Amino acid sequence: MLNGQIIKGIGGFYYVDTQVGLYECRARGIFRKQKVTPLVGDRVAISVVDEENKKGVIEEINKRDTELVRPPIANVNKALIVFAIKNPKPNLSLLDRFIVLAEKEGLEIVIILTKADLDDENILDEVKSTYELSGYKVIPVSNKTKLNIDKVKDELAGNVVVFAGPSGVGKSSLLNEIDKNFKLQTGEVSDKIKRGKHTTRHAELLKLECGGMVADTPGFSSLTLDDISETELKEFFIEFDEFDDCRFGSRCIHEKEPSCAVKEAVERGKISKKRYDSYIQLLNEIRQGKRRY
Ligand code: GDP
Ligand code: ZN
Repeated sequence: MLNGQIIKGIGGFYYVDTQVGLYECRARGIFRKQKVTPLVGDRVAISVVDEENKKGVIEEINKRDTELVRPPIANVNKALIVFAIKNPKPNLSLLDRFIVLAEKEGLEIVIILTKADLDDENILDEVKSTYELSGYKVIPVSNKTKLNIDKVKDELAGNVVVFAGPSGVGKSSLLNEIDKNFKLQTGEVSDKIKRGKHTTRHAELLKLECGGMVADTPGFSSLTLDDISETELKEFFIEFDEFDDCRFGSRCIHEKEPSCAVKEAVERGKISKKRYDSYIQLLNEIRQGKRRY
């Protein structure tokens, strides 16, 4: 048996990347009986049925570390959340929403701030320090001047990564810089194509020159918080973690409770007020969503 990883699936065939090449595989019937569908990203064991034509059968699927719905990929371990510092102006409450979704999936998060070459109002420093205070790694990037492209490559090497972020921030441009084998379309002309791509359930992992793999479609195209409960949300604001001596202990949701360590930390500037306000905004959104049903 050979070990490998599914990098693409089309019409019942799975393409499994192994140390000795790519195999076109069918899945054993047993999986269907067990209601298990192989996913792109699955680490599998295959038996080779035709070495010459590189055909095999998937015999085993390893337990998944993570399982994303959009794009449908298993074992993604890192999200690169991409926002521009200008054109379009960064929408920080949207950034916080992306962070919550990535935290819920258990992904390591790196924030990439693109178009650093356009920074004429010091927005970059402000955003960077806010998210560093929260405990995130923040990398300013320019696809124009090539600032920190190498640092982004380092983040990709050895990982299975999904890019996330609004359209127009430079995700495709960045991938093209990272690996010259890609020729993803960039700019407004390609917007229609990209939107078309999101509506399909297709997903593929692209192997990168620098090592590591990246999903060919951006993550979290649905940004609803439907699956997150009111009491769970605070777990996805990781900077609240160290302030754990609220009077109501773990029952405190850091909103109106007296002697709340998180609210005190906001007042002392230990937690960003912007991030805390985002938290309250998302908390209210979750409550309103619940009322609708
Ligand atoms: P995507 O929708 O996130 O994939 O964004 P694109 O890669 O298609 O980029 C959108 C637009 O921003 C294009 O016109 C790019 O040329 C431009 N762009 C991307 N990155 C940069 C950058 O670092 N600096 C500047 N000035 N423009 C950029
Ligand atoms: Zn509290």
